[in-house]
Amino acid sequence: MQTFHADVIIVGAGGAGLSAGIAVAEQDPSLRVALVSKVYPMRSHTVAAEGGAAAVIRAPDTLEDHFRDTVSGGDWLCDQDAVDLFVAEAPKALTRLEHWGCPWSRAEDGRVQVRSFGGMKNERTWFAADKSGFHILHTLFQTSQRFPSIQRFDEVYALDLLVAEGAVGGLTGLSMQTGEAMVLLAPSVIIATGGAGRVFPFTTNGAIKTGDGMAMAYRAGVALKDIEFMQYHPTGLPGTGILITEGARGEGGILVNKDGYRYLQDYNLGPPDPWPRRKAMEMGPRDRLSQAFWHEQKKGRTIKTSAGDDVVHLDIRKLGEKFIDERLPMVRELSRAYVGVDPVVAPIPVRPVVHYTMGGIDTNIDTATDLAGLYAAGECACVSINGANRLGSNSLTEILVFGTRAGLQAADRARSQVDRPATNWDAQIQASFGKVSGLMARTAGNESIVGLRGQLHGLMEGAAGIYREDAPLRAACAEIAGLRRRYRELAISDHSKVFNTQLFQALELGAMLEIGEAMVHSALARRESRGAHQRLDFPQRDDVQFLHHSIARSGGQDAPSIEHKPVNISRWPPGERVYGGAAK
Ligand SMILES: Cc1cc2nc3c(=O)[nH]c(=O)nc-3n(C[C@H](O)[C@H](O)[C@H](O)COP(=O)(O)OP(=O)(O)OC[C@H]3O[C@@H](n4cnc5c(N)ncnc54)[C@H](O)[C@@H]3O)c2cc1C
Repeated sequence: MQTFHADVIIVGAGGAGLSAGIAVAEQDPSLRVALVSKVYPMRSHTVAAEGGAAAVIRAPDTLEDHFRDTVSGGDWLCDQDAVDLFVAEAPKALTRLEHWGCPWSRAEDGRVQVRSFGGMKNERTWFAADKSGFHILHTLFQTSQRFPSIQRFDEVYALDLLVAEGAVGGLTGLSMQTGEAMVLLAPSVIIATGGAGRVFPFTTNGAIKTGDGMAMAYRAGVALKDIEFMQYHPTGLPGTGILITEGARGEGGILVNKDGYRYLQDYNLGPPDPWPRRKAMEMGPRDRLSQAFWHEQKKGRTIKTSAGDDVVHLDIRKLGEKFIDERLPMVRELSRAYVGVDPVVAPIPVRPVVHYTMGGIDTNIDTATDLAGLYAAGECACVSINGANRLGSNSLTEILVFGTRAGLQAADRARSQVDRPATNWDAQIQASFGKVSGLMARTAGNESIVGLRGQLHGLMEGAAGIYREDAPLRAACAEIAGLRRRYRELAISDHSKVFNTQLFQALELGAMLEIGEAMVHSALARRESRGAHQRLDFPQRDDVQFLHHSIARSGGQDAPSIEHKPVNISRWPPGERVYGGAAK
């Protein structure tokens, strides 16, 4: 077993983790940073982001508009102090990226170009063609390499936090390359492990997004906040779930049903848009667009693909080949490769797909959890600026703003802990690796990864999909508890040490079961409809009883407890949810 000492450990080398690492290194080059990632950093999911990152750039846009779009889009579940901080920091974060070399797309006059995204009053989304995530991650990765104090632990799987006397002291991990056990010790730990879309069967999320970091915190007693809110993106490719960016609609693409009818005009996506370019329609928020699809499907107005999927059509033909190649090259590449459709000449089949985890590890505005020394940032965290529904393109900016903030906080704490007495972690280390050796030792068992995962997927989609209601959620709570019991009997057939992908899939499944459990229990307790959480049995938003954050705490092998926490409503009281032109 190898042991490493650092000042700050960061789990996750996506946009949030790299931003945090750079912030620590810039703040104090004498602090040793351990950057742990289960994949090579450039393979983190941030790389897949297409459309762009939101920040106010020029008139007529204002910070107030960005604040209001975000709070209203989040159906008032956002903490308004966090949103205020976020919108003010956003332009600085994107400009800093520009200085580090991020090639933002530009207008004819040389200024940074912005595009519109759903639920926004003004054009506010900075982009690098439709490969924004790739360029952002690449810029961060190359910048991080300037700092010798950042030591990378690529292809190391973080297992469990080490906790004593109400404070975190490090974590256990496994080298994926060699199977070797590792212990990393530090007074500050930042979790930046991204979302948990893989808890659902049909998702845009990469295979690595299994919620490991959220589960790690949850097991250590830290709460998951608003974890019932999962965002469906209205335009994924059937079969694979690959995303067709909202940028395609932002640039003028339209959605039509099997009759070629622009069905969104029949749905309430907010009042008519005063913004002269067009009505909300395709630029309505993602939750409402996904719900509209569900209704079209029920009315039999969707299109059946040869593989049996129900889809609608996204038509961008009117943009023309030159424009598509310049602004949306990846949309063209993806549709040709994965559904055999060239969007220059034919509409793209699309359907809603699980996309983004609004909830996550409960943090305060400074990214701190209630476990001393533990911070969380990025999609795994709930700080909370996304409320009940995230606005597209806010999260790439969120990982920069709050990743940096986590780095600065963690650095401060590390400096204040230099004289901390050493703790004996042996028992916790043994317990953590004991789980792994238990899995490896079981040679026979009735349970398989594929079997348990498939059942979890079925339960999540059936009970906690676009629409939810009491009976299926209640049944899912009981059945996931059963799956967690059966998980303890899981046996794996591969007992090799080197890149044992079966072992890591088993560990990821354990995390997904824990997150799935927290999701269904939180969804059952929220007896109202708000943002991405729509209950057929409670169709109205209920501010009297439910304008609060859900706080799920693990009960170990028992059901989690679901408590409440007030929402910070510092200056804009709840109102009707409106888009593209909230009254000032
Ligand atoms: C297809 C797609 C397109 C998107 N497009 C946009 C967009 O245009 N605009 C926008 O704002 N947002 C977009 N998003 C959302 C946005 O990209 C993500 O929310 C954001 O990039 C998450 O960054 P992150 O740093 O929090 O996590 P990630 O980039 O997911 O990184 C997570 C890191 O954690 C590590 N990790 C996880 N578990 C472990 C473990 N057990 N041990 C060690 N390491 C671990 C991984 O190796 C990885 O390095 C998109 C998302 C998807 C899926």
